[in-house]
Amino acid sequence: MNCHKCQRFMFPVPGKTHFVCGVCQCFGFPTPLESGPEPIVSSGKQVDFQCVRCHENLTVGTLYNRTDVCFCTGCRGFVIDSQSVGMLIEQLRAEHKGPDAKPTPMNPDQLDIPARCPACGDATEAHPYYGPGNCVLDTCRHCKLVWFDHSELDLIVRAPGQRSKARQTYDLGYN
Ligand SMILES: [Zn+2]
Ligand SMILES: [Zn+2]
Ligand SMILES: [Zn+2]
Repeated sequence: MNCHKCQRFMFPVPGKTHFVCGVCQCFGFPTPLESGPEPIVSSGKQVDFQCVRCHENLTVGTLYNRTDVCFCTGCRGFVIDSQSVGMLIEQLRAEHKGPDAKPTPMNPDQLDIPARCPACGDATEAHPYYGPGNCVLDTCRHCKLVWFDHSELDLIVRAPGQRSKARQTYDLGYN
């Protein structure tokens, strides 16, 4: 895969499915936004929130056909209202039909990457996500927002571990 800005070779991001340019540090994705592992349908409308990583303005979109998010077109990170995160993860994990992801250890270095809330600009708190998936999430207590880097939510959805009763009943009843 080659960089869309400088045309140079892009390197795979370790443990991920996307690529990064060694020259401009921009990201490349093998799948379109709407059909990637975390499908987002863009409204094309930009908002005055900045990407936690790239500091570009975020765009409003719909994630997994059900939740409004503000996402970054450059790195595909997105921010969600923290009150809807738990329910979203539970639903997506219950509906996940594919194989579980191989567990990957959390990268503790991620806890030290400074980040600013896309809405208020205050420093976010980085903390490990305590459910399955070994992710580090950035949150703003004041704005009640959670930032997901690209593929973190997908990792949580596909991580091994308990899924909701709906899924278990389905498995027991029909397999
Ligand atoms: Zn480049
Ligand atoms: Zn970004
Ligand atoms: Zn904030």
